[in-house]
Amino acid sequence: TVKTRFAPSPTGFLHVGGARTALYSWLFAKHMGGEFVLRIEDTDIERSTQEAIDAIMEGMEWLELNWDEGPYYQTKRFDRYNEVVDQLLAEDKAYKCYCPKALLDEIREQQMADGVKPRYDANHPKIIAANAAATADSPFCIRFRNPKEGTVIFDDKIRGHIEISNSELDDLIIRRTDGSPTYNFCVVIDDWDMGITQVVRGEDHINNTPRQINIYKALGAPVPEFAHCAMILGDDGAKLSKRHGAVGVMQYRDDGFLPHALLNYLVRLGWSHGDQEIFSLQEMIDCFTLESVSKSASAFNTDKLLWLNNHYIKTAAPEYVAKYLQWHLDQKQISIENGPAITEVITLVGERCHTLIELAEQSRYFYQDFSEFEAGAAKKHLRPVAKDALALALAKVEALEEWTTENLHAVTTQVCEELELGMGKVGMPLRVAVTGQGQSPSVDAVMHLIGKERVVARIKMALD
Ligand code: GLU
Repeated sequence: TVKTRFAPSPTGFLHVGGARTALYSWLFAKHMGGEFVLRIEDTDIERSTQEAIDAIMEGMEWLELNWDEGPYYQTKRFDRYNEVVDQLLAEDKAYKCYCPKALLDEIREQQMADGVKPRYDANHPKIIAANAAATADSPFCIRFRNPKEGTVIFDDKIRGHIEISNSELDDLIIRRTDGSPTYNFCVVIDDWDMGITQVVRGEDHINNTPRQINIYKALGAPVPEFAHCAMILGDDGAKLSKRHGAVGVMQYRDDGFLPHALLNYLVRLGWSHGDQEIFSLQEMIDCFTLESVSKSASAFNTDKLLWLNNHYIKTAAPEYVAKYLQWHLDQKQISIENGPAITEVITLVGERCHTLIELAEQSRYFYQDFSEFEAGAAKKHLRPVAKDALALALAKVEALEEWTTENLHAVTTQVCEELELGMGKVGMPLRVAVTGQGQSPSVDAVMHLIGKERVVARIKMALD
């Protein structure tokens, strides 16, 4: 059965590139009815932090990219790595290398000066001499004996056929002098032990893949399939970075995006299914294949993300939107206890909002009274000539027995007719009076949701 994984190094938050890799890996597993593993690659103890582990998991949870297994931690598996190192040593598939770093540096410099690609050369006379001179207590690292002949071939699910001659690959260090295992080794043991069938990861790892395949083969382990995702660029064509604004997934939460909008955005960033743009989660799962992931880099486009976010604010179940809106309402200290059901407010004002921050701001007047009208709107629409219309509207509104949108619509029409005014001359003053601002959805529907008591009080305030 299919098993994929996401294997972040916890050195920072979950950024959009990582989130997209995780999404593709997760979607592929779901599409195949398989399982998805989370593995924290924390062997780099200096750079790994608990904050980063928490931030990565928080991002995955917010996106609801749930893992079926894990999280595994590489730092808890050192015994296992050492066991495999010992096995390779015993089988002479790995060896102790006593060559001191200073000598390796010297050889590397000479190779560069000679115009040769710098690499470890076990047959270099100085290396042979250094190893021969070693004593039992000399420090050593352990190197994998890479095959000298032949070619490593693999068919990357995204990038296609790849061949690398073994003559290009040197003997990789698998355990450092301090006894710690190296990344390229751990990743193979992990993917093998965890039964990973497809490795979906960033293309920055493509050069590691042939070396890793050689280790699988030396161990007699099944080689998984590989799929290397292209980079994400900023809108200026440079590799996406903090310079381009938000790159951490939780920053998108803070900026008012719905997780589904971000998922839909990310799935399309380098993957396509005809010209379809909008995908429910189930559609993503049903349609996703690694073969239709693009080989070339994709540029991040914030306008498209905003467009998708507006789409989901408008069309998702209001309960779903409400769940994520709540955080923003809390940030703005807007309590929805006193006022209409938030789902009704979402249905009414969501249309015009591109972020949940805007939606929260546009929800405010349904729940909170204000003591001032927006200056520009008041100057334009609450002039003395508007007072007659407001006064008549107030009388009719107060007399209403049934507080419905239809009846409120009738009120505004009657005021227009009786005073021989156009709708703008009645609707706009009313809008400013009841919302405090110059823009809102249809004023009848808005008044209906705000409720009679507040509408009456606010028109009175405007007449003062
Ligand atoms: N830990 C690696 C990274 O964060 C991923 C390695 C892999 O997926 O094989 O870049």
